[in-house]
Amino acid sequence: MKDHAAESDAVRRFRERLGLPGLVDVHTHFMPERVLRKVWEYFDSLGPLTGGLEWPITYREAEAERTAILRGFGVRAFTSMLYPHKPGMARWLNGWAADFAHRTPDCLHTATLFPEPGVEAYVREAVEAGARLFKSHVQVGAYDPADELLRPAWGLLAEAGIPVVIHCGSGPAPGKHTGPGPIARVLAEHPRLRLIVAHMGMPEYEEFLDLAERYGEVRLDTTMAFTDFAEALMPLPRRALPRLAALGDRVLLGSDFPNIPYPYVHQLDALERLGLGEEWLRAVCHDNGAKLFRL
Ligand SMILES: [Zn+2]
Repeated sequence: MKDHAAESDAVRRFRERLGLPGLVDVHTHFMPERVLRKVWEYFDSLGPLTGGLEWPITYREAEAERTAILRGFGVRAFTSMLYPHKPGMARWLNGWAADFAHRTPDCLHTATLFPEPGVEAYVREAVEAGARLFKSHVQVGAYDPADELLRPAWGLLAEAGIPVVIHCGSGPAPGKHTGPGPIARVLAEHPRLRLIVAHMGMPEYEEFLDLAERYGEVRLDTTMAFTDFAEALMPLPRRALPRLAALGDRVLLGSDFPNIPYPYVHQLDALERLGLGEEWLRAVCHDNGAKLFRL
């Protein structure tokens, strides 16, 4: 295990400056070991979904060490974002995630879905088993979120008030169904659905801010946004900052740990340097997540 002590100190100083009891990170990846290896191989090989970018993964430790690193950073709640790239996988992933949450009390019980026969049944099963958050990956799954097959699942999740982190923006590389259009159709039908738009919707930041302003249950996660890495490729238009400030109660800290090409603390620094103030930072890094998940 690499020594992350210096970084833990830097994260602690960030928390202490803001007077935060901890961080709530809604977007971290834990998944079955062989799936995670595959994801890492994908990043290593500069596959097309990364936009051909160099993407050196910073935290390649074993699972127990990765959870220890997050705890060392003072992350009091995190998630196990997992997602299928084909049919027939989601139910198995959900079983793994339920077990992971059971043996990892500070991980929110996460589940996923795919447009396939039986999706409504396994989404209901996951909800009944205590799932508190879903993940949908429109880019990797290459499906239309407005697909007929998903309609009852979205309805069920909207009714239950269970948030869904959804990668629906076109970064780092566009997919067939990414961008604000398909997801706007889902929201038109399920206006109370608690979607958390991953990566602030990059690079379509402003179109996804439009959706958040229109639908009161739409939130955004900060995952990778505003970092040097993202800003070099998909910069946030400065004119969007006041809108970001105004939506301060619906922006949630997300990091993409462990699959990030820079140290975790850089995400926090990137948020701080937006200059939106301490109150905004406290809400984003802790309070909004604590409230949403009743921590
Ligand atoms: Zn992610």
